[in-house]
Amino acid sequence: MRICISLFFICFFAFAQTPLELVKGQTLFLEFEKKDFIEVKNGDKKLNVFPHPNNDKKLVSLFSLPYKNPPKKSTITIVHTNKKENFMIYTQEGNYTSETIQVQVEKVFPPKTAQERITQEAQETSALYKNYTQKALFNGTFQLPLESKITSAYGKARVFNNSITSYHSGIDFRAKIGTAIKAANSGVVVLAKERYYAGGSIVIDHGYGIYSQYYHLSKLNVKVGQQVHKGQIIGLSGASGRASGPHLHFGIIVALKQVDPLDFIAKFNLLFNEI
Ligand SMILES: [Zn+2]
Repeated sequence: MRICISLFFICFFAFAQTPLELVKGQTLFLEFEKKDFIEVKNGDKKLNVFPHPNNDKKLVSLFSLPYKNPPKKSTITIVHTNKKENFMIYTQEGNYTSETIQVQVEKVFPPKTAQERITQEAQETSALYKNYTQKALFNGTFQLPLESKITSAYGKARVFNNSITSYHSGIDFRAKIGTAIKAANSGVVVLAKERYYAGGSIVIDHGYGIYSQYYHLSKLNVKVGQQVHKGQIIGLSGASGRASGPHLHFGIIVALKQVDPLDFIAKFNLLFNEI
């Protein structure tokens, strides 16, 4: 009888899948013991892992679901020498709303002459995010780039001039032109230039595949390669690029995905609450 029970438990732990729910665009923070750790996988794909910033016995791995076409479910397996934990993550659609925006016609239907620039800029940023910096460039918790009202949340489905639809990949803050914009955390500037859609743009690498983005700026105070510290004024807000008015667009990239910045910051900062 004792053998049967033992076998039952072995089987149970080997095949059990803990069910979890995750809203598309949000990030799951997986924390686990460093001791005897082998790997963490999403299906066949190995996930990146980094040391817990506040607990030297633990490791952290970030998993997020894309907003567009997320899988219905995902499996995460955390493998230790003598232990294998499986999690089945069920995708939730979330309570995302939609909005209609009127902008200059050439920003919705860019002229042929702008196409090359747009393609080149998109390739430039996606290449940037593929660089995984193997160390922490951040310093403690994240903060918001300014204190202001959020006028548009992450994930809103958008209809531009009643035609082209997309989704809002960051959050918009109310900010009159010339408002000081601060780095959400310490890091290294990897992009600082004028772009067609995003206007005056800054991207900061915080390490471990985490990047923050600041768009539609009227002035850039930093250069590519420059180290910035949390709270440093990196530029001034504006209305450049495809903007319907002055505001700051703030985005966060995690493991190549454009995630909900508020969800990410809340969960990231919880890492520092541990004893
Ligand atoms: Zn925005």
